Amino acid sequence: MPDYSPLKNKFGNYCLFNEPAENFTTYRAGGRAEALVKPGDAAELLWLAGWCRDVAVPLLVLGRGSNVLVSDKGLPGVTALTERLTGLEVSGRAITAQAGALWDEVARLSAENGLAGLEKTSGIPGSVGGALRMNAGAFGQETFDRLVSLETFNAAGETVRLLKKDIAFGYRRAEGLGGLTLLSARFEFERADPAVLRQDRSCVLASRAAKQPLEFPSAGSVFKRPPGDYASRLIDAAGLKGHKVGGAEVSAKHAGFIINSGGATAADIYALIGEVRARVKERSGVALELEQILLGEF
Ligand SMILES: Cc1cc2nc3c(=O)[nH]c(=O)nc-3n(C[C@H](O)[C@H](O)[C@H](O)COP(=O)(O)OP(=O)(O)OC[C@H]3O[C@@H](n4cnc5c(N)ncnc54)[C@H](O)[C@@H]3O)c2cc1C
Repeated sequence: MPDYSPLKNKFGNYCLFNEPAENFTTYRAGGRAEALVKPGDAAELLWLAGWCRDVAVPLLVLGRGSNVLVSDKGLPGVTALTERLTGLEVSGRAITAQAGALWDEVARLSAENGLAGLEKTSGIPGSVGGALRMNAGAFGQETFDRLVSLETFNAAGETVRLLKKDIAFGYRRAEGLGGLTLLSARFEFERADPAVLRQDRSCVLASRAAKQPLEFPSAGSVFKRPPGDYASRLIDAAGLKGHKVGGAEVSAKHAGFIINSGGATAADIYALIGEVRARVKERSGVALELEQILLGEF
């Protein structure tokens, strides 16, 4: 294990060792992060990336851990959480958000201020950085819809500003962001009646609560939507609702979700993902593509 004392000295209580993934992922499952650091601002995140580069320790940047499955073998090196980089600013028809701000705060603020175009993404429980990394979306809107530009830094620690037109994106896909750490993003909107947008937001949140198993830990939809169909419909048709491996279960409320129904290991969840893919392929011929990101060794 590297000498992590410089991190402890700089980050104090915001630097933890052997932290279980149940404390930083919404699946509440998986192994331990060797070192978990929560930088307080962009400069600290940049400093941390520089330190990792200098001592050749791998660095993984996470938001709210709501789209990842961490291996039971854990995460070597440093895992940085952006949860303290939460700045948000509304100015005219624009919102600028730091990478660790909750995506739902962007959705809420835009609706409250009569700024249209992202209100239907309400309730996505990740960060701005995590949402943009894979162009998260819901109910026909996507995080890239209103994006103007991104502030990032690359592996060498150099600041890189990207305009939306520089990035190839599509359904749950934003290309070329792999080696970059996202620091902040700017969005621009059309004006609309705040009462209408607030109403849209309320409907979306109510629909999520009615259809999704929000009472259990999960990481949302496990698979991408296959062309012309829904993963949840195919999984349901394969008779898999309620199917379990250990503590992992295909949600009976929404077959597109795998929930941690109590004490699930990452291996349970991973095995269930494999079973679901195999059974759906067998029954309908569709090869479901994983939406969630596997971290560590599986
Ligand atoms: C109940 C529930 C409902 C959900 N509903 C939806 C939905 O409707 N639509 C949808 O698209 N998703 C949904 N999700 C999945 C998830 O919330 C989104 O994908 C979200 O955008 C992930 O953000 P995060 O901050 O949690 O990312 P994380 O899971 O922390 O990270 C995801 C990826 O982004 C990278 N990343 C995160 N922050 C940065 C950064 N600052 N710089 C560089 N890389 C970064 C990570 O390295 C990782 O590769 C849902 C999840 C849950 C639990």
